[in-house]
Amino acid sequence: MTRADGGRNKESAVKFELSEQQRMIRDMARDFATKEVAPQAAENDAEERFPAELVGRMGELGFMGMNVAEKYGGSGLDTLCYVLAMEEISKACASTGVIMSVNNSLVCWPLETYGTEEQKQTWLAPLARGEKLGAYCLSEPNAGTDAANQQTFAKPDGDGWVINGMKNFITNGAHADTLIVFAQTNPALRHKGIRAFIVEKTDPGFSVIRKEDKMGIRASETSQLALDGVKVGPERVLGDEGTGFRIAMSTLDGGRIGIASQALGISAAAYEAARLYALQREQFGKPIASFQAIQWKIADMVLRLEAARLLTYRAAWTKEQGGSYSREAAMAKLAASEASHFITNEAVQIFGGNGYSKEYPVERHFRDAKITEIYEGTSEAQRMVISAQEFKK
Ligand SMILES: Cc1cc2nc3c(=O)[nH]c(=O)nc-3n(C[C@H](O)[C@H](O)[C@H](O)COP(=O)(O)OP(=O)(O)OC[C@H]3O[C@@H](n4cnc5c(N)ncnc54)[C@H](O)[C@@H]3O)c2cc1C
Repeated sequence: MTRADGGRNKESAVKFELSEQQRMIRDMARDFATKEVAPQAAENDAEERFPAELVGRMGELGFMGMNVAEKYGGSGLDTLCYVLAMEEISKACASTGVIMSVNNSLVCWPLETYGTEEQKQTWLAPLARGEKLGAYCLSEPNAGTDAANQQTFAKPDGDGWVINGMKNFITNGAHADTLIVFAQTNPALRHKGIRAFIVEKTDPGFSVIRKEDKMGIRASETSQLALDGVKVGPERVLGDEGTGFRIAMSTLDGGRIGIASQALGISAAAYEAARLYALQREQFGKPIASFQAIQWKIADMVLRLEAARLLTYRAAWTKEQGGSYSREAAMAKLAASEASHFITNEAVQIFGGNGYSKEYPVERHFRDAKITEIYEGTSEAQRMVISAQEFKK
C-alpha cells in the first residue's frame, strides 16, 4: 500500500460490484420473475398448484442448470449468478425458487461432480436443460438431522442393486423424472456403507405414497416416496464405494447457498412491501413511517437483509475458489434464514391486521420464510457445522 494511491490498495480490495454478466443474469431473472412468476404466486400458493409451465420456462431461460458446463446442457455460469437469479425468482415466489434450487444444487451438482461421462450425458444434460426435473432423496422417517441413520437398504443383485425403503419430505418428489437416492449397503460400516443411486420415476417399485399438506411454499410439492424392490444396474451408482454420505453432505453445502438465496428473496419481498406500506398507511393523521417504532423496524430489517446478503455472496465466492466452503455456506444459510424469519415477522407487524390477511403478500412470505430454517439442515445443524469448524482450528 502506498500513499500515491491514496493509501488504498485496489488490487487486494474486496469488490462489492457485480460483473456485467452477473448484472445481466440478475436483470433477466428479475424480468422473468416480475412478468411471469409474481402474477401467479398467490394463486399457486392458495391452490397448492405446482407451476409446471414456469419450470419449463426456467429451463428455456437456462435457470435449471446454471452452474453446469455448457457441454452438459448447462449455462456455465458462476455461483454468484445462481445466487442472484435465485433471489429474484424467490422474491416473486419462494415455491418456484426451491424447485429451481433443488434441481440446480441437489441434483445437477452431484451428477456433474461425481458422475461418470456416461451419467452426465444420460442424466445430467436433460436436467440441466430443464427438459427433466430432479429430486434429492436423503431424508427418511428416522433419518432427518441424523441423516446417516439410513433405513433404505440397497442389496447387491447380479451386477446391480435392489433398493428397498422409504423417503420423507422429498421436494419435487412426485414431479421428478430423475432422483438421487441414498441407501445403506453395509450397516456395519455405518455412514461409510451409504451409497448414492440414480433412480427414475418409471422404475418398477418406485411410487409416491402421499403429498405433504404444508404451512408454506405450498406450490412446491413435497412427497413421501416408497422404493419397493427397485432394481438398478451398475450404471446407476453415483460415486465410488464408501462415498455416498460424503456426496450427500457436500451436495448440501452448495444447497445451503441456494436456500440462503431463497431466504434473501423472501426477505427482500417482505421488506419492500413493508417499507412501501409504512409510507402509505396513515394513523394519527400521519404515515406510520413517521413513527420511530416503525423506523427502527425498517432499519433492523434492511440491516439484517444486507448482512445476510453479504454472507451469501461470500459463500458463493468461496465456492468458486475451490476447496471447502461448508463453514461459509452454513453461515450464509443460518444468517439468511434467521433474517428471513425476523424480517417477515416484522413485515406482518408493520401491516397490522392487513398483515394477517391473505389479501396482502406478507402473510405468504411469513409462512414461506419458516422452511428456510428447517430444510437442508436445521438452524441447529448449521450451528453444529459452524462450531465444528471453529474447534478444528
Ligand atoms: C418442505 C420440506 C421439504 C424438504 N425437502 C427435502 C428434500 O428434497 N430432500 C430431503 O432429503 N429432505 C427434505 N426435507 C427434509 C428436511 O431436510 C428435514 O426435515 C430436516 O433435515 C430436519 O429433519 P427432521 O424433520 O427429521 O427433524 P429432526 O432431525 O427430528 O429434528 C427435530 C428438531 O431437533 C433438532 N435436533 C436434532 N438433532 C439435534 C442435535 N444433535 N442437536 C441439536 N438439535 C438437534 C433439530 O434441529 C430440530 O429442531 C424437506 C423438509 C420439508 C419440511
